[in-house]
Amino acid sequence: MEATYALRALLAEIGRQGAVLANLDVLGQALDDAVAYRDPAGSWCPDCDMHPGELCPDHVADQVMTECYLTLAGSLGIGVDR
Ligand SMILES: [Zn+2]
Repeated sequence: MEATYALRALLAEIGRQGAVLANLDVLGQALDDAVAYRDPAGSWCPDCDMHPGELCPDHVADQVMTECYLTLAGSLGIGVDR
């Protein structure tokens, strides 16, 4: 009886960890998509060309969010390509 309880607890824990790992895979894919969508590298616009800071406000915002996504991925140990 005691062993059955311990086995159930172990299986529940394995299930929880599996769910966490599966969620991390989904989160990693979402962050990868977000970086691909937001990363302004190579997609400068005419406003960027005219801006003294070399990036227009929209592309600065994209660059900031890209860095936030990469920082979040790094803090979670998720590899995201840029
Ligand atoms: Zn721009």
